[in-house]
Amino acid sequence: MDSLKGKVAVVTGSTSGIGLGVARAMARQGAAVLLNGFGPPAEIERLRQSLSDEHGVKVAYSAADLSKPAQIAELVAQAASELGGVDILVNNAGIQHVAPVETFPAERWDAILAVNLSSNFHAISATLPLMLARGWGRIINIASAHGLVASKYKAAYVAAKHGVVGLTKVVALETARTRITCNAICPGWVLTPLVERQVEELARRDGVSLEVAGERLLAEKTPSQHFATPDQIGELALFLCSEAASEIRGSAISIDGGWTAQ
Ligand code: NAD
Repeated sequence: MDSLKGKVAVVTGSTSGIGLGVARAMARQGAAVLLNGFGPPAEIERLRQSLSDEHGVKVAYSAADLSKPAQIAELVAQAASELGGVDILVNNAGIQHVAPVETFPAERWDAILAVNLSSNFHAISATLPLMLARGWGRIINIASAHGLVASKYKAAYVAAKHGVVGLTKVVALETARTRITCNAICPGWVLTPLVERQVEELARRDGVSLEVAGERLLAEKTPSQHFATPDQIGELALFLCSEAASEIRGSAISIDGGWTAQ
């Protein structure tokens, strides 16, 4: 993998799960990192410090709420002022709510569209001028298998993630004559706190252990019967940052154990 020394990576929603896996991969490869996401301040500060110490890179943190466009602008401005710019933007923050469409709470629809889709637009729009000025950039949107196919009871999530795949293509076309690329990563099941909550719900509903619930979740969609890991998503993001990937543009790359091959 190419060294990312001298580059700055902004990873939204990186206090947990996939975002944290991607942030770790970026820091390991030498990039300065702006972390973002929610959590207990002391824990986040420990994480920031340990990532910085372990890899000898600058690591900053923004508490921006990505459902608020003004705070996204502040996050990008903070990356520019504290770390010197933005070379790599990973739009990862995401939330979920599961309910039939006729009882899906409108407030949850609005929140999911704001965090999972609109935040990508606002972050890209604020960051692209910085990348264009430097003549290089990588925009990686963490979409989902649900950006390509649907499941019941996930109206807002599926709509938002299909939107992310569409936005990815538009940005890739608009940047096609530059050294900036924009792609989406489409994971299937990755065992993170977001999915652990769904496993717990399934265990409660079916009256089974967490282990059996995890197996049932995988059995439904995943031919390989394995969860992907945040580290594997991080490695794929690193590849998209390499020069070998410079002509991958507007792609939605699946890492889903065969889910969308069916
Ligand atoms: P997670 O719940 O472990 O992490 C989500 C992160 O986003 C956390 O850091 C959280 O604090 C942050 N976040 C949530 N709302 C935010 C907001 N309003 N502003 C700022 N930060 C916010 O979830 P995860 O499973 O790691 O998911 C990360 C991304 O990957 C999401 O976009 C999700 O849709 C996508 N994804 C996950 C899976 C999976 O199986 N886990 C599969 C496909 C796609």
